[in-house]
Amino acid sequence: MVELSVKTEVTGSRKRKAETTVKATKRVTKKAKSDLKPLESRTVGSKLIMGAHVSIAGGVHNAIPNLLHIGQVTSSPLANAFALFLKNQRKWDNAPLDPEYATLFIDGCKEHGIKPGDCCLPHGSYLVNLAHPDAARKKQAYDSFLDDLTRCHKLGIKLYNFHPGNANASTREEGIKIIAENINKAHKDSATGEVIPVLETMASQGNTIGGTFEDIAAIIEHIDDKDRIGVCLDTCHVFAAGYDLRTPETYAEVISRFDKIIGLKYLKALHVNDSKAPFGSCRDLHARIGTGYLGLRAFHNIVNDERLHGMPMVLETPIDVVGSNGKKSEDKSIWAREIKMLESLVGMDIESAEFEALEKKLHEEGKGERERIGEQVEKKKAKQKQVKAPKSKKKAKKVESESEEDEEDE
Ligand SMILES: [Zn+2]
Repeated sequence: MVELSVKTEVTGSRKRKAETTVKATKRVTKKAKSDLKPLESRTVGSKLIMGAHVSIAGGVHNAIPNLLHIGQVTSSPLANAFALFLKNQRKWDNAPLDPEYATLFIDGCKEHGIKPGDCCLPHGSYLVNLAHPDAARKKQAYDSFLDDLTRCHKLGIKLYNFHPGNANASTREEGIKIIAENINKAHKDSATGEVIPVLETMASQGNTIGGTFEDIAAIIEHIDDKDRIGVCLDTCHVFAAGYDLRTPETYAEVISRFDKIIGLKYLKALHVNDSKAPFGSCRDLHARIGTGYLGLRAFHNIVNDERLHGMPMVLETPIDVVGSNGKKSEDKSIWAREIKMLESLVGMDIESAEFEALEKKLHEEGKGERERIGEQVEKKKAKQKQVKAPKSKKKAKKVESESEEDEEDE
């Protein structure tokens, strides 16, 4: 990674440090990094718009070499999908978008045939809770949200993914109304252009809003301009929340429920993650594709669903590896291979030896983690049962804070 002279975010999955500091005095190079070669070639003619959450360390323009690094697209008009943070996702105060970086981002997209309006899906700040009823907190959250949408507009990005919020300080109904109110207000601000806020489905923990399709539908119901609202389905989250994507039948059933309750026309994007935690566990723990409790068949269902072709699909799978020196680092080639593999699943016969071998290999790879987390989930369940009934409110709070300590994914 290049030296940074700004504090900024790092990508994707958890345990990223919120701030990558700085080799203090070194000036930022305003040229995008060009030394990164693609780790994999992409599948020519693939129907998928697929990518990962890339870093903007050093400036938003650096997203471009970072996304090309995990797989160069050769087939127009489709391109890599990608996610990024528009600013530090764990800080309230951020420097404004540097216009020079913005220009470099836009030029970089043009140069490589990337249409940020179609394939970029930024991820919102983790601090923002658009459901907060308190006036000062509400303003702080709204201002950050508005700032993100404004940044999208300036960068030519059309979709903006965020976690809807939580009802820790309100009732669920009130929280849902406040979220919609904030979105309606942002829609009316011309600085947000035509940017579409995209509600991410959540893993349904405690007071989190968005863990059910009903929550999402309720928010949309309160939106005035329904052309400017969307949904991002996170495969790990919905699975943890009790929506089963594993077999063709259950998958079809979930999508048809989505259609009935929310409306498929609102589905704009997917976060493509396997789950380290079992079905219905409400735990948000992303696993590499095929290694978790979802398994490869779930992703075969997804990539072969023509209704989803052309939508940005973004990996947020863990790529941390521990080197022989015991140090952790990121291995981006994992994403490059996952993308290539997902592309290869389109049209692959699920009965074929090729599929079965791949499924078996990945399933084996994830065995340790599945067992470890599976045990954790069972233990927690047992503990919850032991606590004698109704102090439910207090208990619910306790469980929530415990799960926060677990460092869930996003
Ligand atoms: Zn996600």
